[in-house]
Amino acid sequence: MTEHINQLEVFPWNKNFETGIEIIDVQHQKLISLLNELAGALVRGNHLEINYFFDALAKYAEFHFETEEAIWIEYFGDDSWLSSHQLTHSSFLPKVVEIKEQETNKPQNEIIESIILFLIRWLAFHILDNDKRMAFVVQNVNKGLSLEEAKIVSDKKMNGSIRVLIETVMIMYDSLSSRTLVLMRENYERQKIEAELHKANKQLRKVNLKLEALAMTDQLTGLFNRRHFRNVFAREIKRAHRHNIYLALIILDIDFFKRINDNYGHSKGDQVLIQISRKLKKLCQRPDDYAFRLGGEEFGVIAANLDHQGTVEFAEIIRKGIEELKILNGYSDGAKHLTVSIGTVTKTPDEMDTIDSYMAIADARLYKAKELGRNQAVTGE
Ligand code: GH3
Ligand code: MG
Ligand code: MG
Repeated sequence: MTEHINQLEVFPWNKNFETGIEIIDVQHQKLISLLNELAGALVRGNHLEINYFFDALAKYAEFHFETEEAIWIEYFGDDSWLSSHQLTHSSFLPKVVEIKEQETNKPQNEIIESIILFLIRWLAFHILDNDKRMAFVVQNVNKGLSLEEAKIVSDKKMNGSIRVLIETVMIMYDSLSSRTLVLMRENYERQKIEAELHKANKQLRKVNLKLEALAMTDQLTGLFNRRHFRNVFAREIKRAHRHNIYLALIILDIDFFKRINDNYGHSKGDQVLIQISRKLKKLCQRPDDYAFRLGGEEFGVIAANLDHQGTVEFAEIIRKGIEELKILNGYSDGAKHLTVSIGTVTKTPDEMDTIDSYMAIADARLYKAKELGRNQAVTGE
């Protein structure tokens, strides 16, 4: 996010700021980039960063003034141009402090903002006018002119139309900088809000997924619930009809389950339901098999693309698999271990078939299995 904001600069560098003296130009650019960083920190409202860049800028300004003056002194000696230049340098920091102190009752951010705007104006003017004017003198002295002659040439060049141009540029920089600050701030806020929104959306999606999962899950066993059974069945029956393929429904009901509750306690009963669910889940490993708890101690399995023979075999695998869990049901009338009775339907559904028509047949067959002595499957085409 920081990088994005730094693409906007309160003080964009321009080739016209160059004086032609390399070391000075390099240092000017460094000053400007510190100023841009200070503005970035201001926009982010990070006080540690603001103080850091502010100190860095102040220190670097002093260091730069020393470098610059060392160059000027070589050419200007004790000329008045140098002493007035030194005066503007030495008044730089005190002016900043003055602004800082003048506005003690304003929030810190506002003070820093007016300091930044002052600095931009000061630096731009100082570089475009004073430094360039002196750099011309240096260039002309290097060409062989005397100091006095060079000063006249430089003054001529810097007055008149150039002066107007500088003033025009200064006005542009002023409004450009304040507008950029506003823009940077808006940009930063927008990005912050976008990031928050993105985060909130992600959380919402997660919550939604959880809610969806909750709505289709049976709490005790973790299997899909009856509600989801109806949805999946409705989808699968349409699919099977469209592709003209089989759709099998297997329903099972625990034999003498009530006696488990009555003799071993309700929580033992719950545990048994969980055990059976795990087993069913394990047995439904094909991508087209789904296991459900339809309610109480009744379960359902939907198997797409499974023909009659396949259904008979699958029902037997389920019956046997549960029997082999060897869950003690010593009070049942039949086997010592817990068993299930099963009813199945296998069809290539036509448009008349519905979940209820399937269920009616499966229920009737399950009832028949109970009647025939339990622990068996009654199937049919
Ligand atoms: P049948 O062989 O004829 O199916 O006999 P059954 O005892 O299994 O059938 P019945 O319908 O008489 O009893 C089912 C019992 O399942 C009654 C009910 O208390 C119990 N049950 C239903 N849901 C739960 C549950 O979530 N936890 C427990 N522990 N028991 C449950
Ligand atoms: Mg039962
Ligand atoms: Mg029952």
